[in-house]
Amino acid sequence: MEERIVKQLMTSVKCTGCGQKYEMRDVKIIGNHGDLYFLQVTCSACHSRYMITAVVNDKKNADIVSDLMDEEFTKFNQAAAPNTNDVLDMYAYLKDFDGDFSGLFGYKKV
Ligand SMILES: [Zn+2]
Repeated sequence: MEERIVKQLMTSVKCTGCGQKYEMRDVKIIGNHGDLYFLQVTCSACHSRYMITAVVNDKKNADIVSDLMDEEFTKFNQAAAPNTNDVLDMYAYLKDFDGDFSGLFGYKKV
């Protein structure tokens, strides 16, 4: 992939330090190994500097890597996204969770 396109893609990324979007001139391509790119970005607003590793390719539909079975993938793909209440429920549960996963999943300790 052309370096110009990789730099153009980085203009949609914001600096984690200040939130400023990167400009093409902020991005330096250190190198690449196939689709794996090593980038250095320097924020023009706050001058924070970051190293970024990114997989960049021009496939329209990237392959999905998963260990889910087909029926599991379909189930979770059609499920609603977690909402605020789901997160609060999990927080409440984990707040008192003692870390006993064996007990949680019904296994006995040996
Ligand atoms: Zn910044």
